[in-house]
Amino acid sequence: MAQDSTRLLVEAEKILRRAVIDLLGYDEDTFEALRHPERVIQVKIPVRMDNGKVKVFIGWRSEHNSALGPYKGGIRYHPETTKEEVIALSMMMTWKNALAGLPYGGGKGGVRVDPHALSPRELEELSRGFIRGIYKYIGPDKDIPAPDVYTNPQIMAWMMDEYYRLTGDNAFAMITGKPKILGGMETRIIATGFGTAVAARETAKRLWGGIEGKKVAVQGYGNAGYYAAKFLHEMGAIIVAVSDSKGGIYSSKGLNPDEVLEVKKKTGSVINYDKAEKKITNEELLELDVDVLVPAAIEDVITEENMDKIKAKLIVEAANGPTTAEADVYLSTKKGVVIVPDILANAGGVIMSHIEWMNNRMGGYISEEEAKRRLEQKMAENVAAVWDFWHKELDPKKHTMRDAAYALAVKRVIEAMKLRGWL
Ligand code: GLU
Repeated sequence: MAQDSTRLLVEAEKILRRAVIDLLGYDEDTFEALRHPERVIQVKIPVRMDNGKVKVFIGWRSEHNSALGPYKGGIRYHPETTKEEVIALSMMMTWKNALAGLPYGGGKGGVRVDPHALSPRELEELSRGFIRGIYKYIGPDKDIPAPDVYTNPQIMAWMMDEYYRLTGDNAFAMITGKPKILGGMETRIIATGFGTAVAARETAKRLWGGIEGKKVAVQGYGNAGYYAAKFLHEMGAIIVAVSDSKGGIYSSKGLNPDEVLEVKKKTGSVINYDKAEKKITNEELLELDVDVLVPAAIEDVITEENMDKIKAKLIVEAANGPTTAEADVYLSTKKGVVIVPDILANAGGVIMSHIEWMNNRMGGYISEEEAKRRLEQKMAENVAAVWDFWHKELDPKKHTMRDAAYALAVKRVIEAMKLRGWL
């Protein structure tokens, strides 16, 4: 998805190097031991299309680190995804899961495809084909996929069923983000966005005493963006701008996230919401004079090119990798912007996945209400832990909140690797 296919990986390695060597004082060998994925599986997936012709798709599952437990992370379907992008994202899952205190390592999958151009039957064939390529390497104690960009509960159901056909194991815990009737949690749908809203609220409390009345712009109106907007609106923030891939809308008095969603569902984009004051571009949205900016679309949107124009005082990363390492350091240390990093801000999805996985393994149920309560509590605790570490153990003028999150996460992975004899 990044224009340059290796850019996200370069960024992920830069951030890791800063944490391992500059911050924690480990050597080059330790960095090397953490950097590379343990395994990358490449899959070619032939799909007979509705027109009778066979089209071949390509995909990857990157299993980055399993020191803390089975690999865990989503599978994305995107026309521009690359092997390097999937590797970078799998590495970020290792830190995200470690930081959240989950018993998981990190993994990620991706198939290079525009899922909107496929019929439901073609999409099912593709999803089953991907599992045929990776089924030997995944399972409830090996590697547990989940949804990511442009994948959903129906796709998880096909994948689980294909795993059953191939192995004979009706193992609900082999994948998360499933439909409720197949062992999923309804709360999984809201989890990433709700978790991001809680992370924003908890950080805003520390900065300003609360999120109420603060102006918020949200880039991206998929699952993460919409639910972040919805819950921030419920918490009393004013959602002044939202956008999707076609463009954005602005209203100084605030938008109603549910009304905007209705319009997006009916017409395909938020830009057709006619009660907004004006239309804006995605670039303009990032540069608005707001209190809080929530990038919830794709990676690499806050960069060296536009960092000087960013006016928000708090950035909460619902997307994976929206800020480059250089922009993170510049905005945090030169402009005093607080950036709640992706591995902290968007961990709600995988935290809820963990509850789903526990339910499946226990054959019992933590209720939806209890799951939401646990998620809220865990997000608040994680923000507090990172904030306190940042202020007590590091220097917030020199170090970013991302530095604090990475230091905590990487230390845990290193400790597990040492105990296992991998370092
Ligand atoms: N795809 C989500 C992420 O990037 C969730 C992964 C999961 O639930 O395993 O964190």
